Amino acid sequence: MLLRLRVPLSTLEKDSILKLCKELGYSTRFVAEALLELEGPSRPEHRSRLEDHAVVLEVMAAAAELSARPPGGPDTVVAIGDARFGGEFVSIVSGPCAVEDGERLLEIARAVRDAGGTLLRGGAFKPRTSPYSFRGLGREALELLARAREETGLAVVTEVLDPRDVEEVGAVADAFQIGSRSMGNAALLSEVGRTKTPVLLKRGMAATVREFLLAAEYVLSAGNPNVVLCERGVRSFDSVTRNLLDVGAIAHMRSATHLPIIADPSHAAGRSDLVAPLARAGIAAGACGILVEVHPAPHEARSDGAQAISPRELHALADEVRALADLTGRRLAEPAQPALTSGRSDS
Ligand code: PEP
Ligand code: MN
Repeated sequence: MLLRLRVPLSTLEKDSILKLCKELGYSTRFVAEALLELEGPSRPEHRSRLEDHAVVLEVMAAAAELSARPPGGPDTVVAIGDARFGGEFVSIVSGPCAVEDGERLLEIARAVRDAGGTLLRGGAFKPRTSPYSFRGLGREALELLARAREETGLAVVTEVLDPRDVEEVGAVADAFQIGSRSMGNAALLSEVGRTKTPVLLKRGMAATVREFLLAAEYVLSAGNPNVVLCERGVRSFDSVTRNLLDVGAIAHMRSATHLPIIADPSHAAGRSDLVAPLARAGIAAGACGILVEVHPAPHEARSDGAQAISPRELHALADEVRALADLTGRRLAEPAQPALTSGRSDS
């Protein structure tokens, strides 16, 4: 491992970095004034320890963290109900932004299943920017999601906002969503990491790829290997779209990590007419799934109506995703027969 150091170093600073290296089990050698070579059994957690030292500018050739893809290593495939993410599989995750009422949720869930979706997503606890906006139905929505799963056989994913809710949400959800606003919530990440329930982790709206992968590392290092990353757009200077879908990051992460990554064109676009082209771009860049908000009457939606596509549009988009998956040597994980999938998945 190599450390690039801020120079000039005072004697105190030099002693301090050498002491830390020794404590971590390395022998050291200066190869230049600002370059310190470390020899010894390198461990993934050492990178962050060293990066935290005041004189370290950069840590190079560090041992891989848990999310890193070893050279030539395979994809991790995460299964959630009939959905499969990674490897040869592409899956469609869809549903309303927020669960609003039982009948409407069922109508949407059936449309998701009929289009070829395998995972129903609906918010029970909504992390709204304004505390005065609709923040979800909470517990009641969890019950409605469970009922929709029973009716359709679709597994469900819903957001958990608070570490204290992990047990209650986990009793219903087949997967936890960690939203963009919570990506940096270390307590929440550790708490879902202590379960084995898959985690759909969204990129923070101003998070670097490294920060995103380190958020995943919180979950992995707590013992939960079932992480699906989700690129949902980052803040940009332009307001033609709500966020900027970072397809470059998707392509980059295909080699940087073995974890599956999906694209959320809905929160990236913020407008329904751009959802399909951004979804296609995400899959073409290597995403192994899409997360799309759908609503039969977007003008009645209590959140994110402007970006909701119709069930008919979802159907057409699913056909395109199927074709693109095929073109890239993969396939869409299709819903199994309802009789085979009713009840909660145990993945
Ligand atoms: C959502 O998924 O409805 C949501 C609020 O998304 P994000 O966390 O990406 O803003
Ligand atoms: Mn939304």
